[in-house]
Amino acid sequence: MYRESWVEINLDALKFNFNKIKEKSNKDLICVIKANGYGSGDQHIIQTALACGINFFAVSSLDEAIVLRNARCHEKILILGYVNPTDIKICIENKISCTVVSLDWLKDVCRQDTSGLELHLKVDTGMNRIGMKTLEECIEAINLCQLNNIDACGIFTHFACSDVANQEMTKKQYEKFKNIVLNLPHQFKYIHCDNSDALVSFQDNLTNYGRLGISMYGISTYMNDLKPVFSLYSTISCIKEVDAGETISYGATYTTSSKEIIATLPIGYADGWLRKNQGRNVYVDGDFAPIVGRVCMDQCMIRLKEFKPVGTHVELFGSHMPVQEVARDLETIPYEILANLSERLTRVYIENGEILTEINARLERSKI
Ligand SMILES: *Cc1c(COP(=O)(O)O)cnc(C)c1O
Repeated sequence: MYRESWVEINLDALKFNFNKIKEKSNKDLICVIKANGYGSGDQHIIQTALACGINFFAVSSLDEAIVLRNARCHEKILILGYVNPTDIKICIENKISCTVVSLDWLKDVCRQDTSGLELHLKVDTGMNRIGMKTLEECIEAINLCQLNNIDACGIFTHFACSDVANQEMTKKQYEKFKNIVLNLPHQFKYIHCDNSDALVSFQDNLTNYGRLGISMYGISTYMNDLKPVFSLYSTISCIKEVDAGETISYGATYTTSSKEIIATLPIGYADGWLRKNQGRNVYVDGDFAPIVGRVCMDQCMIRLKEFKPVGTHVELFGSHMPVQEVARDLETIPYEILANLSERLTRVYIENGEILTEINARLERSKI
């Protein structure tokens, strides 16, 4: 590793979480690995999922699906978002299933050669994002599929409020979905509505699959027995004593009140370590230390109580500083923090308690 800041992905914890969630949910799982597995690196997530008997994957777009095919993933893949109808041929050639985002989209698709195409109908039950809203639209969609040799193998919806204790909205959405599924003159192989939180908090007797995302990484509203998969680390690259009354970093927003020990970490906002982290704590060697002064693009400074050697590891989030806590402090959700960890950070994969491999994606690409 040439830059001493990295994301650790613990595949042992991931395996543990897969098995816990499988036990608890009683459904087959579609492993949602959009956005490069929420930043974890989809390849290793796929391998671990397969080892746990999960062999259906979902991504957000065609390029994400092709990346998986290029990496020799031959498993079932569903694109959850929009695909340009002119790219349907590529989906058929690569056996990639698509989502019917609207009836108009399907009509456009049917102007192409569609034999061999697999589609999942998306029912919009309240997100008002993508999908068809009425039974009539869904019936027309099924008819179009039959006329055009399209296999309408799946149907799904997406909940807006599965992470809140009050299930009123979720129930309302589910009832709309159920009403449409049961009134369509068609048998679906895949019926799914649950994301991570709904998988363990909402019971139904209609669906046979669930779409698992964030909880595989140990982040759940309802399960507290999952293990954290993601940790973010940096190292002390420089440490010095600063006199009282000096300022730290851009804008001179922090002034030392006495002699202070200031350490520099080679991580900044270009790594996804946002400026808003100023003032928050990181974990160093058994103690917490505040980030002082502005977070720079590539570096930030922390205040320590005592000198530590250069090279000392610093946990920005992980087992001592949960990413959920970081998200709360930054007034966001863990998804946003994970998905914004930049490619510049090396991914270090742990398996059986040991380092399996390190991947610096940009360095790898530059070799080709
Ligand atoms: C991202 C996504 C999921 C996974 O959601 P989690 O909350 O991470 O489990 C499921 N379904 C759809 C349609 C999504 O876009």
